[in-house]
Amino acid sequence: MERVYIGLGSNLDEPQEQLRSAIDALRELPDTSLAAASAFYSSESLSPGQPRYTNAVAALDTRLAPLDLLDSLQAIEAAQGRERKERWGPRTLDLDILLYGDHLIDIPRLKVPHYHMQARPFVLYPLAELVPADFLLADQRSLAQLLADCPFVGLERL
Ligand code: ATP
Ligand code: MG
Ligand code: MG
Repeated sequence: MERVYIGLGSNLDEPQEQLRSAIDALRELPDTSLAAASAFYSSESLSPGQPRYTNAVAALDTRLAPLDLLDSLQAIEAAQGRERKERWGPRTLDLDILLYGDHLIDIPRLKVPHYHMQARPFVLYPLAELVPADFLLADQRSLAQLLADCPFVGLERL
């Protein structure tokens, strides 16, 4: 059993509803239980001209192997109408594996810890709701330090 953290994001077609549906779908995954979900946050898009995003982080306990979990997450994205037209385009749902236990994964399909989480307040602040204050990532970076280096800018807790 591994504790896994999933980053959720949506900026199309009722983003808050998309996140609620996605959390329900995570709860239904095989060999998995939903341990916790953060509050929802509203964030500015990193790409100019896109609608604001709604973001959250969910904690799962799962026996799914990393690539099986990724397959399952991509199936949930597809079921909720995710289309991949342009990289970082607007989307109904994005589900990223932020952390998978203490594993360091670096293969083309899956990089964990998520490669950009340290630069994303909409990932770090919801994650901080779900873990102890002295939490260390698998690569030994401290979440407190990442938060200190990533100001709460462009973010609104809903
Ligand atoms: P970003 O990765 O910057 O958040 P994105 O989430 O919009 O961008 P996607 O289009 O959702 O990118 O995913 C592109 C590919 O990234 C996926 O097909 C997947 O194989 C790969 N990927 C690598 N690492 C991860 C991860 N930790 N979680 C989810 N997908 C990942
Ligand atoms: Mg993403
Ligand atoms: Mg993604």
